[in-house]
Amino acid sequence: MTPFSSTATVPRSGKNQEDGLFLTLARAVTILAECDGLRSLSLPYPKEAQLALDRAIVHCLDNGWTPPKSLPELLSWCTQHRMGDTRFGLSPAPVTQDARWIDPVGLVPTRTSLELAPVGRPGRTEQDAIDSLAALEHKCRSIDGYSRCRQFLAHHPLITQEDRFDRRWRTTTWNKVRDLYEHVPEALVDHKKLVLCGSCGLPTRTRRDERESGPDTWCEGEDCPPGVPFRLLRNPAQCLILRRSLRAFLVTPARTEQDAMDEVGRLGLGHHLLVDSGLGTHHITGSQTRDCLVQVHDRHQPARLAGRISEEFSRATHPVLVVVPRRLADREGYRVAFETALSRECREQVTLTTPDDLERHLYPRNPPSDSDREDTHA
Ligand SMILES: [Zn+2]
Repeated sequence: MTPFSSTATVPRSGKNQEDGLFLTLARAVTILAECDGLRSLSLPYPKEAQLALDRAIVHCLDNGWTPPKSLPELLSWCTQHRMGDTRFGLSPAPVTQDARWIDPVGLVPTRTSLELAPVGRPGRTEQDAIDSLAALEHKCRSIDGYSRCRQFLAHHPLITQEDRFDRRWRTTTWNKVRDLYEHVPEALVDHKKLVLCGSCGLPTRTRRDERESGPDTWCEGEDCPPGVPFRLLRNPAQCLILRRSLRAFLVTPARTEQDAMDEVGRLGLGHHLLVDSGLGTHHITGSQTRDCLVQVHDRHQPARLAGRISEEFSRATHPVLVVVPRRLADREGYRVAFETALSRECREQVTLTTPDDLERHLYPRNPPSDSDREDTHA
């Protein structure tokens, strides 16, 4: 019998227990990737990884399956299977059915794994991004200065030697953000080269040295279109890369945030970043509009995003617009999953939207009608 395989009927264990194992696995793969990449597992394992292995073994034995013999075997299973796999007793999974723990080409935790956390709480990687930004804000001492630094980070996931000799280079900003960059991890370097996605600018990995994005390539953005040529850096030792947490939670939504703020500007409205607002909340003001709070996200798991939003805005006195890229909002079930998972207190106050749809939510005279909303869900 192959590991984890069984012809036995899967008994339904308690939901909390399923959720627990599910999250334990996501946490373990995230922590292992932080340690030294998933390719170079060595003993002793981090305690979270050992815990994941122990729980997976118990889960398998309870269900009459052959348990994994080792952590590499468990990780190999997590790489090959989707989270909605019924053999793990997780169907219907609390995330989208096609999500994975580990990307089979990238061999790193997926964005879903980074987003997963107990409902309503930030995961470990997201918390690291929040803490890093809070420390930067504290260092900047003014919201304008912090806003400039945050903008710099969002648009510079990677710094090359050439960047630093560019005449537009801002040394004052760099001195404030420098400690949020690190040397390029070996796990991202292939044959002494670093390959970057031509769309999102984040690291990529390929199966057969492909030169452009396609079905057998992976980039950290995970959503980029095919057929876009990669950018090749032949001397990654001379580059610095932004921390993984900020690449995932600040760089990934940066383009959508820019589009949203451009739209706010086009409408002649004012906006400013709120002090101490975690990953970033904008306050939108204008004489004809209602005051709104805007947060921009790029998350693969709408229900988990709703959990975070519910926690953060349970006492909001202004309407809250949660802006996501159009490609996500249009995904089947995305809006419904988000709205269903919102807390009761937030349902009236929070709206999921996209940059190109902001106008109708900002003007109180044209509130979206129920039929509009249903059309959008269809
Ligand atoms: Zn990409």
